[in-house]
Amino acid sequence: MNTATLGHREPLTRTIDRIARAGFGGIAPWRREVEQADVAALARQIRALDLRVTGYCRSTALPAATRQAFLANVEANRAALHDAAALGARCFVMVAGGIPEGERDLAGARAQFAEGVAALLDTARALNVPLALEPLHPMYAADRAVLNTLAQALQVCETVDPDNGGFLGVAIDAYHCWWDPALEASIDAAGRARRILAYHVCDWLRDTQDLLLDRGMMGDGVIDLPAMRACVEQAGYDGLVEVEIFSARHWWRRDPDDVLACCAARLQTVC
Ligand code: ZN
Repeated sequence: MNTATLGHREPLTRTIDRIARAGFGGIAPWRREVEQADVAALARQIRALDLRVTGYCRSTALPAATRQAFLANVEANRAALHDAAALGARCFVMVAGGIPEGERDLAGARAQFAEGVAALLDTARALNVPLALEPLHPMYAADRAVLNTLAQALQVCETVDPDNGGFLGVAIDAYHCWWDPALEASIDAAGRARRILAYHVCDWLRDTQDLLLDRGMMGDGVIDLPAMRACVEQAGYDGLVEVEIFSARHWWRRDPDDVLACCAARLQTVC
């Protein structure tokens, strides 16, 4: 369970308890919840409840207008990797960041992202926290992520880490990837390269009202989730399926325990 699904409405300590009580096997917390708390205490609580940390969300945007700002972004991510290690996270989720404000250099922003990933890889290895590159839907290319397809994410992995030392891979999110005509081939390639580190699910509502905060519950939208999960598992992924639903108008207004119960039921029936 990705904690964003519950809308960040409560302290993380309460969310952790709720998720464990609802029977989930894993949790993916966000930096905004963790960095204001006692990381070691959170890690103890998570371990005591036998929850796996499927990912730590997420990276500071890397592309920047100046070299100095870019290097500061790299260091912010390096610091976050230490928290990811303390939490025992299976991966650090990396979203690229958009085009720096006032610029139009998409290729340059993509090159900066790859350079930043390369700069962080040694730290990831030293801390035993793999970097999971998560491509976002291309509608976010301007302001959130210049990494937009699974094939593109794999290309960055192969360029930065051609020998695959086990600390660089991809996070596949159904919301971002479902539309991609090359999806099956890319999932297959990611599996053959042993690069699949995480699998995130929610649904794409046909009449979606907000392209950031109106994700659907699994089964309520247009994504063929059983087919996608089968593809990911055939590619060799045997980790947990992580539910990540941003839903300001609907699920974030519902009782958190009801949301968890619904997610648990849908995971069993439509994922
Ligand atoms: Zn995701």
